[in-house]
Amino acid sequence: MTPDIKPLIAGNWKMNGLTAALSELRIVSDAVTPAIAARADVLLCVPATLIAQASSASYGSPLMIGAQDCHAAVSGAHTGDISAEMLVDAGAQMIIVGHSERRADHGETDAAVRAKAEAAIRAGVPAIVCVGETAAQRQAGKALTVVGGELAGSVPDSANAETVVIAYEPVWAIGTGLTATPDDVNEVHAFIRQELVLRFGAEGYRFRILYGGSVKPSNSAELLAVSNVDGALVGGASLKAADFLAIIGV
Ligand code: PEP
Repeated sequence: MTPDIKPLIAGNWKMNGLTAALSELRIVSDAVTPAIAARADVLLCVPATLIAQASSASYGSPLMIGAQDCHAAVSGAHTGDISAEMLVDAGAQMIIVGHSERRADHGETDAAVRAKAEAAIRAGVPAIVCVGETAAQRQAGKALTVVGGELAGSVPDSANAETVVIAYEPVWAIGTGLTATPDDVNEVHAFIRQELVLRFGAEGYRFRILYGGSVKPSNSAELLAVSNVDGALVGGASLKAADFLAIIGV
């Protein structure tokens, strides 16, 4: 954790969840009391199809609802895509951009991710910009180079701590059960902090830097205690209310 930074615990349901899954979300929204929300922001990024219903289901709770991706344009001839403005209109309060699954499955470049982050900011909500190296890149000793390149390319020049959250997600740790060691996380998060300060000056100390990659109740406390870890981006373990609440510390 970084002193004076309010942590963010964010769940990413990925392409999981029909209407029935809102029962899990309701358990989370009932448990996230103002007292819990005073010490950590809590967010669930549900599939776009559930954003409006999730917003209604959590009405009155400090639980925030988010989206997992957006198109860079406001509107237009982009069949099947959804703009940041549409997501916000449906109830999204934050938008993940540049998740490694989108970079891999849809060939999203740093420039595309940057444009999406700018779109989220334009629509009035923070972007959670994901960065992280593959196993091969780590083995080749290139983890910091890759993360530095993605940060430089994906984070807009206009970013500040209110409009952008960084998520460090080593690709080899996502959905694999493998977790980076606290030492690895410490090294990369310290590097990200340094890069943010180099680029944004003192503002760089205020950005939230989340860790993501097989975070679960059994390892969350250890990972969240690492310096410069200001929260978590949680995939699989966010699907079960009990696991997600255990990570939040409820
Ligand atoms: C993710 O979806 O961003 C993620 C980190 O997934 P998991 O926690 O399942 O590894």
